[in-house]
Amino acid sequence: MPIENNSTFAPRYMKVTDLLAASKKTIISFEILPPTKGKSIESIFTHLNPLMDFKPAFINVTYHRAEQILKTRNDGTTEMVEIRKRPGTVGICAAIMNKYKVDAVPHLICGGFSKAETENALIDLDFLGINNVLALRGDAAKGEDVFKPNPQGHHYAEDLVRQIVGLNNGIYMEDDIIDGAKTDFCIGVAGYPEKHIEAPDLETDIRNLKRKIDLGAHYVTTQLFYNNQHYYNYLNKCRELGVNVPVIPGLKPISNQKQLTLLPKVFSIEMPTELQQEMMKANTPEACEAVGTEWLLYQCRDLLKNNLPVLHFYTLGKPMIIYNVLKQLF
Ligand code: FAD
Repeated sequence: MPIENNSTFAPRYMKVTDLLAASKKTIISFEILPPTKGKSIESIFTHLNPLMDFKPAFINVTYHRAEQILKTRNDGTTEMVEIRKRPGTVGICAAIMNKYKVDAVPHLICGGFSKAETENALIDLDFLGINNVLALRGDAAKGEDVFKPNPQGHHYAEDLVRQIVGLNNGIYMEDDIIDGAKTDFCIGVAGYPEKHIEAPDLETDIRNLKRKIDLGAHYVTTQLFYNNQHYYNYLNKCRELGVNVPVIPGLKPISNQKQLTLLPKVFSIEMPTELQQEMMKANTPEACEAVGTEWLLYQCRDLLKNNLPVLHFYTLGKPMIIYNVLKQLF
């Protein structure tokens, strides 16, 4: 029986920067988290299926480092064990590209990884035809106050960018690999409109960002924000300091009152007074979600007025708020 060359089903495999350049209007992208260990890939598809109505240009999949936890055995004694609660980033990316024919962007982190493990992960991605990565440092491990790099790993995201750019030039860790195959990764990095929590000030943080770009990163995706003015100021400051690549705004709906204090604490961001007041007036979960929907809609409409190339949504937890917002926008 002849094998059918059904090219309509071939994945597109485009780089994020090419997707941005090719688009004539604002495009949509999503970030998802792998499910907790024990759940099936179907939980990802159930989460994504309604959102696929909006034809996202790409979907990011986060990476979660392993944690050390104290486990109590049946006999009452305890032992430290290492567990990865949300494994599967690379597999999910391949599954998304295969099922939806949409580009996937795996996140890669420094935390917990040696350079050799990172190189092997990049080789896996390359072989799978996944040519996009978001290069991140990762946060401190649970129970640690500050980020501690793996002794054989990277300290900052810029070191990871350097390694990926090296591989794009055929440079592998083993110096006896001559004429190594060149990968072709499009590299995204993180940016913080209200500065990264550890940075002394915004300018220093952007200068650190600029090093990642100068080393070869192609675009920036931002931390979430609820006051668009922070994003506009950040974009201006980036341009002023010589960061001229796309800066993709990251948006996450708020859906309950607890997040009013939790999100500023975790991400070191401002929660606008008006949003706080509206959320505090809401006295049912549905009313809280309605406030979150309205605020996200307001943020998106304002960003769209400025003809941004892409809106990137953190879909964790409440994909239907994003669905409802997009339904009203597009
Ligand atoms: P870096 O760029 O290394 O910066 C970290 C801090 O060090 C900053 O304060 C910076 O100003 C400073 N710095 C940088 N270089 C230097 C230098 N050479 N000397 C001195 N200071 C320096 N975390 C995960 O674990 N998994 C994920 O999937 C994930 N996805 C994310 C996606 C986005 C869009 C964003 C914004 C964050 C994400 N994070 C994720 C969180 C991220 O890992 C943390 O915010 C982390 O604390 C910083 O990562 P970074 O890549 O920005 O680090």
